[in-house]
Amino acid sequence: MRVVFLGPPGAGKGTQARILHERFGLEQISTGDILRRNCVDETELGGQAVGYMARGELVPDDLVIAMIERELRGLPTGFVMDGFPRNVAQAEALDALLGRRGWPLDGAILFSADRATLIARLASRWTNPRNGRTYNVLTNPPKVAGIDDEDGGELLQRDDDRADTVATRLDVYDAQTRPLIEYYRKTGKLVEVNALASVEAVAERIASAISAAPAPGTRW
Ligand code: AMP
Repeated sequence: MRVVFLGPPGAGKGTQARILHERFGLEQISTGDILRRNCVDETELGGQAVGYMARGELVPDDLVIAMIERELRGLPTGFVMDGFPRNVAQAEALDALLGRRGWPLDGAILFSADRATLIARLASRWTNPRNGRTYNVLTNPPKVAGIDDEDGGELLQRDDDRADTVATRLDVYDAQTRPLIEYYRKTGKLVEVNALASVEAVAERIASAISAAPAPGTRW
C-alpha cells in the first residue's frame, strides 16, 4: 500500500501517518521531520534547508526530491508520505521515481480544514522534537504539561508554528500545494477526509478507504 497525504499544515497528517504506521506497518516518510532532524544534526542538507523552513517557505525541489529518492532506496514497498509532494513538480518527480520501480501510488488522502481552525490548532500544538509526535494543549493534551507521554522528554513549540510563519505556510499551501488536489483527482485516487473530525474518526475514515482498496498494483 502506497499512500500520500495532502492537506494544509495543522490538519493532522503527521498524527494520522503515525497511526497508519502503527496499525498497518506502513513506513512513514515525513519530509518535515526528516528535514528538522537534518537541521538538528547540522548536516549539509540541514544547512541548506533551515532558512526556508524558518520562513515557512518550501525547501527547493531539487533538495527535497533527492532526499525522497534516498528514502525510497531500501524501502519496503508500502509507505505513507506525509508532507510530500508539496507541489506539482514534486508530484511528477514522485510518479517518475515510483514508475521506475513499478510501484503505482494507491491513493492520495486529502485532509480538509478551514484556515481559522488550522491557525488555532497550530498555535496550541506542542511537538516532541525527537520523533515528531504532536499534542494539542486544548484537544489532546499530554498527561503532564510539556512532557511527552511516551518517552518522558520535553515537548516544544515549533518555531514555525508562530502566528506570522503559520500565515506564510498557509499561503504557500494555497499557492503551491492546493493545485495537487486537481492533479490527484484526475487520477481517480483522491479520497477526501474531514480533518476537523476527531483523531479516531479520521483514522477510521482513512482505514476504511485503504481497506476498500484492491490489492497493491491495481487502482482504487
Ligand atoms: P511540515 O512539518 O510538513 O509542516 O514541514 C515543515 C517545513 O519543512 C515546511 O514549511 C517546509 O519548509 C519544509 N518541507 C517539508 N516538506 C517539504 C517538501 N515536500 N517540499 C519543500 N519543503 C518541505
